[in-house]
This record gives sequence, C-alpha cells and structure tokens, in this order.
Amino acid sequence: MPRSRAASVAVIGAGVGGCALVAQLRRRGFRGPLSLWETGRGPGGRASTRRSRSDPALAIDHGSPLLNITAEAGPELLAPLLAGEWITPWSGLMALLEGESKLHIGRPDALGLGALYAGRGGMDHLCRGLLTLAEAAGPSVQAHYGTLIRHLEVGPSGAWRLLDRDGVLLAEADWLVLGSTLLAHPRSCLLFDWPEVPMARAAAALGDLQLDHALTTIAGIRWEARSNLLLVFDAERAIPWRSLPFALVNFDAAAQQRWGLRRISIQPLPDGRCVVVAHSSDSFAADHLDVYGSRSAAARMLALPPDEGREETVIEALSQAVVQCLAPWIDGVEVSSADSQLMRWGAAFPVPPGLPSELMLCSGSRVGFCGDYLTGVGFGRIEGALRSGERLADGLLQAGGVEGRRS
Ligand SMILES: Cc1cc2nc3c(=O)[nH]c(=O)nc-3n(C[C@H](O)[C@H](O)[C@H](O)COP(=O)(O)OP(=O)(O)OC[C@H]3O[C@@H](n4cnc5c(N)ncnc54)[C@H](O)[C@@H]3O)c2cc1C
Repeated sequence: MPRSRAASVAVIGAGVGGCALVAQLRRRGFRGPLSLWETGRGPGGRASTRRSRSDPALAIDHGSPLLNITAEAGPELLAPLLAGEWITPWSGLMALLEGESKLHIGRPDALGLGALYAGRGGMDHLCRGLLTLAEAAGPSVQAHYGTLIRHLEVGPSGAWRLLDRDGVLLAEADWLVLGSTLLAHPRSCLLFDWPEVPMARAAAALGDLQLDHALTTIAGIRWEARSNLLLVFDAERAIPWRSLPFALVNFDAAAQQRWGLRRISIQPLPDGRCVVVAHSSDSFAADHLDVYGSRSAAARMLALPPDEGREETVIEALSQAVVQCLAPWIDGVEVSSADSQLMRWGAAFPVPPGLPSELMLCSGSRVGFCGDYLTGVGFGRIEGALRSGERLADGLLQAGGVEGRRS
C-alpha cells in the first residue's frame, strides 16, 4: 500500500454495522477515502423504514421497530445520536403473550431489556444519523445506493476491487469491509443462483489462513427468518389499535407455536392512521421461505414473477392469526379493510455463536467484518451491530491499517 496517501476503505452494506463503522472512523479522525455500497434504496438494512413516494406520511418500520441497550456502558455513538435527535427514548408498553391468551402487560422479552430507543420518525433515522455524524466529522463519505456488489477480487496492485453483476469495476480500495454476511455465506448462492460464494472465491487466491478461518465460520452461521405482515389502517379503523394499552406484543415459545407469530408491533402514524407489523415465528417463516411478497425488495432485485396465490395464502394465514390472538383485547378486530403486504426476511437474526471478535480484522488480506453477526454484547441486535462498527474502527486504526487521530 503506498505510504504517501491515506488508505481507502470500501464498506459493503449501509446497515447499522456499516454506518456505525463509517461514523466512528471519521469521528476518530480517519480522513482517507471512504465509500459505502448498498443494494437497498437507502441506509438502514434490517433497521430500515419502508416509505412511499406517493404517500409521504407513511413510514413502516418493517424490520426492527426499536433498539435496546443492555450494558451499562452503552455504545459511544449513542450519545451523539440522541443529542442530534436521530433516536429518541422509546416509552411504549410491551406485553408478553403466553400460550393461547395469557397477556402480561409490562413484561419485556430479550429484545426489550435495558434502555429502549427508536428512530425519530422511523428507524432509518438511526443510520441516517450515523452518516450525518460521519459527514460532520470529516470528508464526505461516497454512498452508493441501489448497487449490489456481485464480485470481489484483489487486483494486481493489491487493492480490493468491487464489481457489479456484469463484471463492471465499481471501485478499488485498500481495505474491504463486509457489513453483511451475504457475500460470504452460501445463502447468496441459493438466493441468486450464483455458482460460488463471492468472498470465498476471492479469498482462494490470497492464502490468508485467518481470512479462510473467518469465512468458514461465517459460512456456518445459521439465520432465523421472518415473514412479516404489514398492515396499514385508515384513521377510523385505526382507533381500536391506537387505544390498546401496549405498543408491542412478544410471543413466548408456546404462543409462537400456537399462532405462528413472534411479535406484533403497533406503530401509530401522526396523521391518525396506524401501522401494524406482525412478525412471524421462525418456523412459520421457514415453511414459507419461497414466498417473498411481491412488493418486497428481494422480489424486485431477483425480478421474481408474481405469485399472488401463494402470497395471498400467507397473508391470510398471518392475518387470521393476528385477528384471533388479539380478539380478547380488540373488540371486533378485522384486518380485511387494511392495506396489507408481505415482507420476507430470509436472514433476520443470526443464531449464536457468530463470528468471534478476534476474526473481525484480517490484516493480512486487509479485510474487516462488522454487523450483528459478530460475537459480543448485543449479538443479533442493533446494539451488537453498533458496537461491532465501533470495535472495527478501533481495530483498523490500532492495527495501523488506516490512519486517524492518535487518541
Ligand atoms: C423483523 C426484525 C425485527 C428485529 N427486531 C429487533 C429489535 O427489536 N431490536 C434489535 O436490536 N434488533 C432487532 N432486529 C435485528 C436488527 O435489525 C439487526 O441486528 C441490525 O439491524 C443488523 O444490522 P447490520 O448492519 O448488522 O446488518 P443489516 O441491517 O443486514 O445490513 C447489511 C446491509 O448490507 C446490504 N448488503 C448486503 N450485501 C450487499 C451487497 N453485496 N451489495 C450491496 N449491499 C449489500 C444489505 O442490503 C443491508 O442493508 C430485528 C430484525 C428483523 C429482521
């Protein structure tokens, strides 16, 4: 790597992990070229907000509806995110449904422990806030949305090369960071019908045992899936939903088995409407993995033909479960008048143990990993993704991989 210029870093994935890394690198004084590559239309990943150009008041947190910080010493990025009002303390009430119909209001599950926060005006504001912190601390980050990185390779100069599906070179950088496991996990081959895992192919030419170890570990990570039903009620029909004494219902193991649901998140909109997002159980999603939802990003990206019959069946099954399980608390609940759509998360939650922190930085091949799939506090949650970005930034700076301010 030439010594005369700052090293460049390319980050794949503008989820919480990738955005936290970018923010923390800049806050720590790294001034080199930083690019961020994201296949979605904006930042957020699994903590994004579905918005509509034709209906600007509509905001649906279709992945994570909030974040919880469980350790006393929160991630460093939390304070500036709060100060900038990108996130705000979440004060809704949680309930736990046990078995068929035993509801405990005020009892959280593992995703509700500790201090709770939500994006202000939508969960995507968390990542937007992180990117704004980055911009405020140093040179602009080159963010590229709507761009799927398909191929990775190391060029003759030793730089990492990022290419699109047609093999067109999009960028070269000294360091590569994977803010998602997609390019390193066999699920990419199943999803896209690719002949090989892109990162494994690139690594084969490098002979870096640490990188090989990291990639084998990532390839072995199992992911829980979710099929989420998104419902939007008009102001009149929203009244019973907005009057409920809880904003989020979690389902215990027996309730998940009974209803096929893991969670119901109730999201009132400022204009009187109400969004309800029903997250399926892992086993329900596993049984319907090939039903993406015609309005989902995956269906668009894969150019899948509509499968309205099967989609309707899944929507109907989840709708009925919502109606029946909430019947004791909502008088005459019905969902047929709601605008409904399906959103499938094929890789919603990583199953422990994940990628050990000591493998997050492979200096020999100039590769870093961040995201909720790294072991440590907050694994599988936004807290873990935030912390992983911060840890990787420190690792990159301490390893002398990239240069920032001495702290
Ligand atoms: C339904 C649901 C509910 C959840 N509820 C909670 C909760 O209550 N609390 C909580 O803390 N967490 C929750 N989570 C988990 C939380 O959303 C994640 O832990 C967190 O968002 C992970 O962030 P990340 O940056 O690690 O990964 P991601 O959000 O997955 O970000 C990775 C990004 O990389 C992009 N990408 C991948 N490959 C490529 C490529 N080749 N080219 C370009 N871009 C690429 C993806 O599009 C994505 O945007 C929930 C998740 C889901 C799905």
